[in-house]
Amino acid sequence: MSKFLKSSLQKIDAYTPGEQPQDKKYIKLNTNESPFPPSEGVIKAINEQEVKDLRLYCDPECSKLRKAVAELYNVSENNVFLSNGSDDILNFAFMAYGENGAAFPDITYGFYSVFAELYGIETTIIPLNEDFTINTLRFYNQNKLVVIANPNAPTGIELTLEKIEEVIINNPESVVLVDEAYVDFGGISAIELTKKYKNLLVCSTFSKSRSLAGARLGFAIADSELIKDLEKIKYSTNPYNINRLTQIAGLMAIKENDYYMDNCKKIIENRKFTTNELIGLGFEILPSKANFIFAKSDKISGENLYLKLKEKGVLVRHFKNERIKDFNRITIGSKAEMESFVVAVKEILGENL
Ligand SMILES: *Cc1c(COP(=O)(O)O)cnc(C)c1O
Repeated sequence: MSKFLKSSLQKIDAYTPGEQPQDKKYIKLNTNESPFPPSEGVIKAINEQEVKDLRLYCDPECSKLRKAVAELYNVSENNVFLSNGSDDILNFAFMAYGENGAAFPDITYGFYSVFAELYGIETTIIPLNEDFTINTLRFYNQNKLVVIANPNAPTGIELTLEKIEEVIINNPESVVLVDEAYVDFGGISAIELTKKYKNLLVCSTFSKSRSLAGARLGFAIADSELIKDLEKIKYSTNPYNINRLTQIAGLMAIKENDYYMDNCKKIIENRKFTTNELIGLGFEILPSKANFIFAKSDKISGENLYLKLKEKGVLVRHFKNERIKDFNRITIGSKAEMESFVVAVKEILGENL
């Protein structure tokens, strides 16, 4: 850090992304990526001509992609905002709506607290219940930006739409941001509710269910006035925030949506398989509607399991936070990957006896 950095930024505790080691090939079950490649159409669409066209700026309005997202989710184009990953939407939402503070659970996506710190936003951290579910009553009448990931991360636990709606109704004077990064793996989206509530902002991403983590594409759906707010920030920071190749890939991915939804079904199957195997080995697993499971064993500490799996070439995500340090978050990959993972866990537990 240089002496030139302004003091408010010097103290920021930046977000720590999951490891992306380049030293050897791991079975990567640590950052919730898809084990499946993008669909054929996406691969074909990124052709030589499109690469040559990189000399040109991209369409800042993302017209085609926006239209496709609107059609897919049965909303109007002016209810859609596209962004460079959904992290950008979170960034913009904290920037735009955090004036009176922000409220979110103690155990949730780690980026929320980073954005709050970045913008000097006062936070109300609401503890999850003992069983890691969200007590929605405690989110009523916060009168500040309310942020809920549904399904939540890293627990994978889903909130019902009724409970989400009650949180929205009971915060009429502030924005409720529902982060649906994992909704395609068995959750129910709140997108329909955006037609009814002007304070609901739903955000989602092509990173998890649509195999485009490296392309960086996120979207928000909300009342058109909220979308205008986000556009204002985008045009005040980086109007060309979604590059040409990503716009093409996103458009094709929507055309081939069935492929991705089939992949989600496979992930759900593999999630069942992995859950059953781990339960057989004595693990406790939280009920997940995401492409990961959150698991702990009283036979081995969370950190030790993480380290031993890494030695065996399997990466999972361990968090040091006191409340969840016994757990590991395990991304659900292909059937073959999950079989290898289970074999590795069995070996480790055997060695541990
Ligand atoms: C992965 C993730 C995101 C961000 O995804 P992008 O790759 O930036 O689109 C947002 N919220 C949650 C809860 C996530 O897990």
